[in-house]
Amino acid sequence: MTEVPSNHPRYHSLQLRERLVHGLKAGLATEAGLLAHGRGEAFDYLLGEKSHDFAAEAIAVASALLLTARLPVFSVNGNSASLAGQEINELVKVHERMVVEVNLFHHSQQRSSLIANYLRELGVPHVVESSVGPSVALPEIKSARRRMNVEGLAEADVVLVALEDGDRCQALVNAGRKVIAVDLNPLSRTAQVAHVSIVDELTRVLKLLATQLKSDQNQTPEELARRIAAYDNAKILDQAIATIRRGV
Ligand code: ATP
Repeated sequence: MTEVPSNHPRYHSLQLRERLVHGLKAGLATEAGLLAHGRGEAFDYLLGEKSHDFAAEAIAVASALLLTARLPVFSVNGNSASLAGQEINELVKVHERMVVEVNLFHHSQQRSSLIANYLRELGVPHVVESSVGPSVALPEIKSARRRMNVEGLAEADVVLVALEDGDRCQALVNAGRKVIAVDLNPLSRTAQVAHVSIVDELTRVLKLLATQLKSDQNQTPEELARRIAAYDNAKILDQAIATIRRGV
């Protein structure tokens, strides 16, 4: 990996690029994933490469949903694993019921297994693959992504998706899942259709979410339910769009 000097003004952003290039070389990510990352970088640039209050508010509700879920599942793809494998591991350590399911847009069984094993080696305890073992089909989706593992997405009531595409996000919502999306683009179909849209960069989000989950562990279910009921995702998206406009 290219060594990025820690005093470089784009240190974090360049480090993420290195992680993704490394992920590509290791077979976790695809060339198309590099392009998807570029779209995210552009929005992060416009957001000042920092976490805003609208992300913190969405993260607080995401924490409440994940803690009160019957089965919370984190749907992970090649980019998420490459960029944030360590952060995914730290997140599931503070919420041990969370299942991680590998589900890929550009599916190959070899890449899916590589990602699953990479996460297991990092220490993630409960990793399943959509394409391995008994599964149920997600209606509306034609590709291999429609498979939902019976130990994961098929049984999930709350699903965390990151760097996801709009079709699958919409299909998960239509199939009755509460969907939390991490997406730097507040205009993407994913951000627009999710119940909770965290408009912020994935690695920053996962650290903040882990801290929030820890501090919420002693909250009563009533308090968490009140937080969920008071949440307005359209307002959060408006605030993110306004912030980008002001930045420009
Ligand atoms: P949609 O189908 O939801 O409209 P899209 O086609 O614009 O999405 P995809 O290429 O399917 O986008 O998914 C990539 C999404 O992930 C983009 O919206 C991009 O802004 C976002 N993204 C990329 N990198 C990151 C990151 N590190 N953190 C958060 N979001 C990211």
